[in-house]
Amino acid sequence: MTNLFEDFFTMVRQKERFVVVCHVHPDGDAIGSLLAVGLTLRKLGKSVNMICSDGIPPVYGFLEGTNLIGREIGNFDPEVIICVDCAEKERVAVADSLWESSAFVINIDHHVTNSGFGGLNIVDPEAAATGEIVFKILTAGPFQMDKAIASAVYTAIATDTGFFRYSSTSAFTLESASLLVKDYQVEPAKIAEQVHDQKSYNSVRLLGVVLNTLKVDCNGKVAWLILDQSMLSQFPVDNEETESFVNYARSLEGVEVGILFKELKPDEIKISWRSTSAVDVSKLAAFYGGGGHARAAGCTIMGPIQQVVNEVIAYVSHGYGAAHVARNNDY
Ligand code: 5GP
Ligand code: MN
Ligand code: MN
Repeated sequence: MTNLFEDFFTMVRQKERFVVVCHVHPDGDAIGSLLAVGLTLRKLGKSVNMICSDGIPPVYGFLEGTNLIGREIGNFDPEVIICVDCAEKERVAVADSLWESSAFVINIDHHVTNSGFGGLNIVDPEAAATGEIVFKILTAGPFQMDKAIASAVYTAIATDTGFFRYSSTSAFTLESASLLVKDYQVEPAKIAEQVHDQKSYNSVRLLGVVLNTLKVDCNGKVAWLILDQSMLSQFPVDNEETESFVNYARSLEGVEVGILFKELKPDEIKISWRSTSAVDVSKLAAFYGGGGHARAAGCTIMGPIQQVVNEVIAYVSHGYGAAHVARNNDY
């Protein structure tokens, strides 16, 4: 990693024009890491274009600097494109035309499925969040952190670890969070409240409807929820407001795999996979062309929602069948 960091510092020293971008349907790690890198480069006097073509989920609007993140790069001609929290080029939230530029690509990420699409790949699947890698880069290099940057890094790390609850949470995760609080006056309670305790009326009502769809199979080891368009039209919410729903399936006693089937549009079904510790769901998602982490992964399948549900549950049940039990690496 040290050599990779040196390469990063050299790029920053030598180049002037940067695009910083995260993945489509951004989460806290994506937005926090994007902001932390982008604001740091701006402080150095670089010309920086922070981009997310999907916009900023309102829940992260409290972070200082989100007003500087645009959806398009316009005529900006970058020398370097820095992608954060993106497992693959196809998930980078920019117009495809950006890839026609001759800009050098830096890929900072922690997905085990990362394709290594950059010219410089700072990828660490052991990191609990891309924010953790960003923390290491920013504290190792010739940069000046401030409260806004530190709060962005903290939000990235906190959100991707379920606020320090998931198994990815390490001593380093807590040490970095501690340093951000101690040295840069980050406010953990304020950030937790902004992210978790500002739920809209519709999102809580929608959760009620979705919880009614709960089903369990495979001797109680697999649980799933369904969120279809009719529910969404009854209680319209922003995309990210349904992100935590899948956790209700996973958090059931005895459940090893929790699944949320979300109908994005008719015949386009987004699947969120979560697991406790027994099953590597990134392999299940990868089977359907998606990816992610061992404990949290995603994919999209085309087809009528009930058909997709039946197919996927049959596939998962097969894994629990006689031939092989769905333990890590079995898929
Ligand atoms: P979520 O279920 O919250 O959308 O995603 C969980 C994890 O899986 C995230 O780390 C996300 O980056 C990854 N992920 C979600 N959907 C996809 C997908 O379609 N392709 C890939 N490669 N990763 C995904
Ligand atoms: Mn992410
Ligand atoms: Mn992440």
